[in-house]
Amino acid sequence: MIRIGINGAAGRMGQLLCARILSADDMALAAATDLGRFAGMDVGSLVGLGEKGIPLSEPQTGIYDECDVVIDFSLPEGTTRLLDVLGSQALVVGTTGLTEQSAMDLGRHAQSNPVVLAANFSTGVNVLLSLVEKAAALLPDHDLEIVEMHHARKIDAPSGTALALAKAACDARGVDPEETIVYGRAGDVGARPKGEIGVHAIRGGDIAGDHSVTLSAPGERLELAHRATSRAAFADGALRAARWLVEKPAGLYDMQDVLGLKNR
Ligand code: NAD
Repeated sequence: MIRIGINGAAGRMGQLLCARILSADDMALAAATDLGRFAGMDVGSLVGLGEKGIPLSEPQTGIYDECDVVIDFSLPEGTTRLLDVLGSQALVVGTTGLTEQSAMDLGRHAQSNPVVLAANFSTGVNVLLSLVEKAAALLPDHDLEIVEMHHARKIDAPSGTALALAKAACDARGVDPEETIVYGRAGDVGARPKGEIGVHAIRGGDIAGDHSVTLSAPGERLELAHRATSRAAFADGALRAARWLVEKPAGLYDMQDVLGLKNR
């Protein structure tokens, strides 16, 4: 039985993770932490599964002592605070927009404990990354363009995943991302320079997250696409990372490590 702690447990991802762990055969929820919101409330009741005897607490020293792995989906300040109070537990971090300080603290934790950090825990997106790397290298002369679509409330553009896809394509082609990637096009931009990689963001409605990568050449077009339909894929990916992590030595890993997609 893997004992898990969730930080950010009252949030959208946190509640989904708690519900999945409480229903899993091989996992137990050993701690659930968040800031003041719902403090003291039983987590089972919060996620609609009835009393489980696990109250929602503030992150504090000792609270994760019974945990094998702590999963953090909070805010960048939440990750920083977690690292202040965490013992020697393995850690899975899904929180995005980490500050330089929290990234450094995370690196320090990873020197003596296993850590998985990923901006996107969907297994499908991580396989897409790997496929894009391969396609970009195998089709070096094809024009590569990335389009991402997200809900109207998203505040950053392009998505971190679109950036990761563009970077993976640049790495595969051995080119400098700074000199290769363009963000959107407008006006008298002239003919498309060879090798350029375009990244475009569409916003609207409640789209959970679509990414498509097109490689075009005279006479053909290869399209690789991923569509997230809910947050379930992120939660399941984070739990997969937690299961994988318990047996691993100290170090900083990503979802490509978890899925065995490195160097293939
Ligand atoms: P949310 O706003 O619904 O939940 C965040 C929770 O964190 C809230 O309950 C909030 O009270 C809590 N929190 C804030 N500060 C805290 C602190 N100092 N200590 C403990 N808890 C604190 O957000 P969400 O949609 O659940 O997303 C959470 C994070 O996960 C965001 O950074 C989001 O971008 C990221 N995310 C990552 C992935 C991925 O695959 N890596 C997928 C979805 C979301």
